[in-house]
Amino acid sequence: MFEMDIYRVISEQVKSSVKRLLFFDYDGTLMPLARFPSLSAPNEEVIRLLSDLTSDEKNNIVIISGRDSATLGKWLGAMKLILVAEHGALIKYPGKKWKALIEKGEEWKKDIISVMNTYSGKCEGSFMEEKIFSIAWHYRNASYEVGNYFSRELLSALSKITAGTSLQVLDGNKIIEVRFNSINKGGIAKMIVQEVQPDFILALGDDRTDEDMFKALKSKSVTIKIGTGKTAAGYSLSSQEEVTKLLKNLFHKFPD
Ligand SMILES: [Mg+2]
Repeated sequence: MFEMDIYRVISEQVKSSVKRLLFFDYDGTLMPLARFPSLSAPNEEVIRLLSDLTSDEKNNIVIISGRDSATLGKWLGAMKLILVAEHGALIKYPGKKWKALIEKGEEWKKDIISVMNTYSGKCEGSFMEEKIFSIAWHYRNASYEVGNYFSRELLSALSKITAGTSLQVLDGNKIIEVRFNSINKGGIAKMIVQEVQPDFILALGDDRTDEDMFKALKSKSVTIKIGTGKTAAGYSLSSQEEVTKLLKNLFHKFPD
C-alpha cells in the first residue's frame, strides 16, 4: 500500500482521538541502522519530531527497543517519553527511574558469551553486545556470505545451549539475540495499553521482535512495518525515511 493511502486511512482516526498511544521502535524505525549501535544517537530531526509530538497532551509516546536502558536513558531520558529497553525487560516513565520487570542473576550468560565470542573471532566484522537481560551478536558489518554462513552456525549452537531453558534465540535483521522467552514487545505493549487506556493506538517497527507487538496490538490498532517481508502488521512503509515523513504529516503541526 502506498504511503498516501496509509495517511488517508489513519489521519481521520488521529484527528478524532483524544488519548493516543504511539509505539515507536528505535533502530531501523525512528533512526536508520548504523554500522555500530553506539553511532545511532538521535539526530536533530528525530529530537524535534519527538518533542513536537510530546508537546501535544493527547499523545502518549513509547520508545520500545531492544537496546540497553543506559543508552536509551542517555539519549531520550530527559524527554516526556515512556522508554522500554531490552524488548520489555525494563521500563522508564517520564521523570522516573528505570524499573526492571524481571529478576535474574548473571549465571545464564556464561555459555552464551563464550560461544558468541568464539564466533566474533571467526566472523570478521561481527561483535557481541552484552545487556542486562539479553545478549546480542551483530553481523551487519560482516560480508554478506561470511555473515550469513557463521550466523546460521551460531544460531544452531545457541539453540542447542538454550534448549529446555527459559531462554530464547532470536534470528533478527543482522542480529542474533538471546533473551528470556517471557519477555517480548507484545507483553509490555499490552501492559502499557491497559495503563493508558487510549482511544487510538499506532505501532511502528522494522524487525522480527516488532512482530510480537503487532500481533499483541493487532485488533484495535494501526500497525505499520518498516521495510519489506512478511508481517503481522496491517500496513507497510517501504523505507525508514518514510517514517518521519508520515509522522509529520499525520500529526501535521510542522512544516516539511
Ligand atoms: Mg528495529
